[in-house]
Amino acid sequence: MLGGQGPDALTVDRSGLDRLPAGRRARVKAGLIDQSVVAGLGNLLGDEILWRARVDPARPARDLDAGERDRLADALRGVLRDAVRAGCVPARPSWLTGHRDEPDPACPRCGGPLRPDRIAGRSTPWCPHCQAGRDPAPPGAGGGGRPHSGS
Ligand SMILES: [Zn+2]
Repeated sequence: MLGGQGPDALTVDRSGLDRLPAGRRARVKAGLIDQSVVAGLGNLLGDEILWRARVDPARPARDLDAGERDRLADALRGVLRDAVRAGCVPARPSWLTGHRDEPDPACPRCGGPLRPDRIAGRSTPWCPHCQAGRDPAPPGAGGGGRPHSGS
């Protein structure tokens, strides 16, 4: 039961996310798994929520706009509901958690390689394609060869 703290996190909504440290350069993931912000949110859940919300875990929390906070709140509720029901963070094929321990983990959304970072001292796999914080560009588009207007 998520260490018995899941229901606390279940009650978090947008107002809870607004308490993410906004005045510091804290990364959004660090704020998300900080017990004082959202009780009971573990490392796996934090990564899963950020991946589902398509938010770069290394972004400073204060840089998130309203749309990103809304997406985080939606992802948080959805992930926690399923996790509480399953009694764990389910390692489903459609979840980031279902791939994070693979030798060459791939994003279940776009199929691209997950990047194994460490944030806040915790392993933090994330998808540079889906969570880049900008409009996704098709991989390999263009490819150079543009004529360079030299002098
Ligand atoms: Zn992806």
